[in-house]
Amino acid sequence: MGVDPAIWRCLPPMYQCRMTDFSCWFCDRQIERADPHALLIHVRSLWRWHDSPSSDDGPAQDVYAHSGCAKEHLRGAVMTLEPSVFGEDD
Ligand SMILES: [Zn+2]
Repeated sequence: MGVDPAIWRCLPPMYQCRMTDFSCWFCDRQIERADPHALLIHVRSLWRWHDSPSSDDGPAQDVYAHSGCAKEHLRGAVMTLEPSVFGEDD
């Protein structure tokens, strides 16, 4: 027995009405729920966070990415994203 899709319309406001239009930051195509490990990437100032880590104010931006696009484009020089971010075992 799967989850009734209607449940997504009954969630708390922070989840409500935000389920249909997520465009991938890398390829600009819509992200479907068929990509269960799609990412939300929260971007904010490093130094503002460093100097005041408990503060949530200050400019910030959320971007979304297909899991495949993130794997392809978010390669660091000395570190990689943890496989668990994508629902994979380490
Ligand atoms: Zn994409």
